[in-house]
Order: sequence, then C-alpha cells, then structure tokens
Amino acid sequence: MNAPTPPFERTLHRAACHAATSRGRRIAEAPSPMRDDFQRDRDRIVHSTAFRRLVYKTQVFLNHEGDLFRTRLTHSLEVAQLARSIARALGLNEDLCEAIALAHDLGHTPFGHAGQDALDECVRASDPASAGFEHNFQSLRVVDSLEERYPSHDGLNLTFETREGILKHCSLRHARELEEQEPGGVGQRFIDRTQPSLEAQLCNLADEIAYNAHDIDDGVRSGLIEYEQLLELAPFADVHRQVLTDHPGVTGRRLLFEVIRRTLSRHVHDVIDTSARNLERQRPVDADAARAGPSLIALGDALGPELAEVKAFLRARLYRHPRVVATTDGARQVVRDLFHAYATDPGQMPAPHAARAPLQQTVVDYVAGMTDRFALREHVRLKGPGAASALLGIV
Ligand code: MG
Repeated sequence: MNAPTPPFERTLHRAACHAATSRGRRIAEAPSPMRDDFQRDRDRIVHSTAFRRLVYKTQVFLNHEGDLFRTRLTHSLEVAQLARSIARALGLNEDLCEAIALAHDLGHTPFGHAGQDALDECVRASDPASAGFEHNFQSLRVVDSLEERYPSHDGLNLTFETREGILKHCSLRHARELEEQEPGGVGQRFIDRTQPSLEAQLCNLADEIAYNAHDIDDGVRSGLIEYEQLLELAPFADVHRQVLTDHPGVTGRRLLFEVIRRTLSRHVHDVIDTSARNLERQRPVDADAARAGPSLIALGDALGPELAEVKAFLRARLYRHPRVVATTDGARQVVRDLFHAYATDPGQMPAPHAARAPLQQTVVDYVAGMTDRFALREHVRLKGPGAASALLGIV
C-alpha cells in the first residue's frame, strides 16, 4: 500500500527510513499520488487539533508571562528545523524527522512539566495500580486515539515509524500495555531495550539541543538569568570572546543572539560529524540493522558533557529560580483542582467526555489536552473568580 519511491529517496542513507519500505499504518490506506507516507503523516499532524493547541501551551514560561517566549509550538518548529538540517547532511529522512519533531510534544499537559508532574501524582494517588501519566505516551494516545478527524477511525492512523519516534520514552508498564494491543509494535523496543530508527534518535537529540539553546535565550529575556552568568560556562565564555573579536563593541541582544547562534551551530556540526563517523564505523545495512545496534546519532566526547553542563546550569538558574518555582507551584495546584473536580463530578466536562469510560482515563485525556489559558478559565469557572489568577501571581 506504499506510494512509489520518490526520486529523492534514492539519495538517502541505506540505514535511513524509506517511505517505500515503511512498516505501514495500523489501518491500511490507498497510497497518495502526490505524497509519500511520511509526508502525509507530517501533513496530518499539522492539520490536527492537538497541534494548534501547542501555541497556548507552556514550554518554560507560562503563556500569559510574555508574547516572545517559546511556546510548545515554536519549540516544536525549532526542533523540526534542527532535525531537518542534520537529517539532510546525514542522508536521513527529512520528512519523517519533521513529522516526529512536530508531533513529539502533542501530549504535553498545560503548564509544562509542572502540569505533567501534578497529573502524574493525581493518577497514581487515585489508582495505585496505574502506570501514571507520561507525556510521550500521551502524545502517542493523541495521534492513535484522541484526534477525531476521520469518519471511519479514531486518531490520525500514522505510520509505524512516526509513532515509534513520538514514543521517545515509555515505562515498562506502558510498554507492556501497548504490546498487548499491538504485539511487536512501538512498545516492543522498551521491553527489548533496542534503539529506535536513526530519525527518531536524531529528533531526541535535536529536542535537547533546541531547548537548551532557547531556554538560555528566554532565561536572559525574562531577566532571571544575567548575561554575565552565562560566562561562568567555559564554552559560552569562549564563544563570547570570539564574537567580540569578530564584532568589537557588540552588546545586548545582538551579542546574546550571536553567542547562542554560534553555540547552536557548533552542536549541529558536532552531531553531524560524530554521527557520520558512527555510521561509517558501524555500517548498518538498513533501518532495522540501525535499530538493533548501539545509538549512532550523538554528540562527540567533548560536546556531550558540555550540553550536560548547560542543562545543569539551566536547572539551577532557571527551572529552580524562585520566580519560576512560585508559578509552577500555582500551576500544579490548578491541574490538581481540575483533576479532582472532573473526577468527582464528570458532568463538569462537556457531554462527549462526560459519557466516556473509564472515567480516570477520560479525565486525564481532557485535562492533558487543555491549553494553559483554557485550564485557567476552567479553574475560574469551577473554583470561583480570582482563584487561578491568585495562584499564578497575575492580577
Ligand atoms: Mg520537546
């Protein structure tokens, strides 16, 4: 049922995923005359409801804190851009990378990680036997079941390869649940402890590189990180000196952007060089051989620890900044209140949700799907005016 091989596929690395040899969709479909299966996946994701919600979902800063901070949507676009650039250089499948990158955060709750942690606590507290809430698993639920866009089936009916990439992490419990419904499917690699496709490996790394770079930018923009603090990190200090040598007297945002731009380029070039060497050494003969071997898409020995250092810096200086912690504590409370309100009175959810079973899963899907601002509006409706704004420190 696959479309004919487009000419560009002949230039792909032999261990790349080829649309013509995709493991296919869960429900067979006729090929498109114009697009291959990964291009169709990407287009379905862009047209989905969950994708449009990403614009009002928090990355680090809550949606109402400023118009210029990253949202889940702009983060996903940056991941897609990085993944496509690296894929092109390595001969991996750009369209598959774009589909994975654009969908990778579809399952994120409102209010970023704070919302996810709160929802996970609620699920575990109300059902100790449950596997809890995981946003990667939820992203898969969105594309497999929750999107309602087709007359004959739930979900977007994406290919195995896109779904494999979306399920970046998965607990053993959830993996076993998936295996029961779909033996040998996307849950299997977490049981076998094997790698996903090279494109999925690449999107994981592009995600990490993207958020480390843009969180530095947003952190400085917010005033929570001082530019001078960045220079405590040796790699930033080096790049800072190079920029001032090339552009004496440059200051402010132009200096910051140039330092971030060059740092990002170093990471991208390092992934390309390191991964090209790994592919050359390992010589996987096809996509399945790449899945069976070690992870090949990676940063080199020098830049891997450097990225970890940036991550640790962001954790200490931004994610655990008292101002960020204060708003995330409030956000956690909003999610907890919403979960309990719907779980005790399902009639508070709109009719199609209220009628679904099992109740706990329905509440999780409903709350996880919310944007930041819809969650706040619901909190005001259920808990009275002022409650959400007081919790989030806004007037
Ligand atoms: Mg992400």
